[in-house]
Amino acid sequence: MKLKYFSIFKSFLDYKIYNKPFLAGFKLTYKCNLKCHHCPFWKNKGDDLSFKNVKDVLDNMYYEGARVIIFEGGEPTLWKDNNFTFNDVLDYAKKKFISVNFTTNGLNGFEYNADAIWVSFDGLEKNHNKIRGEGVFEKVIKNLEDYRRKKIFFVNKRKVFANICINSYNVHEIPKLIIFLKKFIDGITIQFYYPYENDFSLFVNKKERVWILNKLKELKKRGYPILDSLSCLDDLKYNTWKCHPELLINAEPDGTIIKGCYVKNRGEINCKYCGFAAHVELSKAFDLKFGSILTGIKAFC
Ligand code: SF4
Repeated sequence: MKLKYFSIFKSFLDYKIYNKPFLAGFKLTYKCNLKCHHCPFWKNKGDDLSFKNVKDVLDNMYYEGARVIIFEGGEPTLWKDNNFTFNDVLDYAKKKFISVNFTTNGLNGFEYNADAIWVSFDGLEKNHNKIRGEGVFEKVIKNLEDYRRKKIFFVNKRKVFANICINSYNVHEIPKLIIFLKKFIDGITIQFYYPYENDFSLFVNKKERVWILNKLKELKKRGYPILDSLSCLDDLKYNTWKCHPELLINAEPDGTIIKGCYVKNRGEINCKYCGFAAHVELSKAFDLKFGSILTGIKAFC
């Protein structure tokens, strides 16, 4: 644990002095077992990298300075190269990175060797299924229940968080969703829908955005396990944080590595519409904001 904190401190200096990134995002595959309305990535085609090439990408991102990694997709648990599976990728990443994590739709369960897993939620049953497909909500909740049962018997210790993408369909039921999810997960993070391809159909307007952020603050103060800091929730109202996109490094399924904002090369960057709370928190943590540092520790340490 001491080594982990030392490594984070060194990364802090590396960013301040050399502008090195800290957080790596690796889209391991565009393949997905869902076709969610708000996600542009499953529509992309292309072969996945071999295990050897995946390892090269991980080595490169580590060499550039990244110390925390989040795999995503598509659905990253679907990645495969002959006998090598996603767990082999996680095992290799764990030899290098101080925290290895992934996001998932939760359909393939949570038996993976990551430090933390983020399962995506888009609302309660009706809205989640409207965006993700019939029956998906029930399957994910069943997988979470199975996982919790094993966790009680100490079969595994990894954390499972919910990540809620807030959009114009679900914004009003987010408080109910958080109350519902509390017993299934170890924490909750949020982000706002980003209008890729200039599609504003799910975009949350300013009035609703301020309303839900105030509600989230209230719930957090009442003890609901919202990981986002109060100051991050405040900054998201009018996008008043100072972003440090250089802290990010992202890899695509073909191995292309891009430094900077998550949206770079994936859509038009418009900070006015940004609602990537994780990046807000990361930027604020590197500006030494206490609440954001605490969020980072809870999520990654
Ligand atoms: S879109 Fe968001 S993460 Fe990207 S540079 Fe702008 S504020 Fe930062």
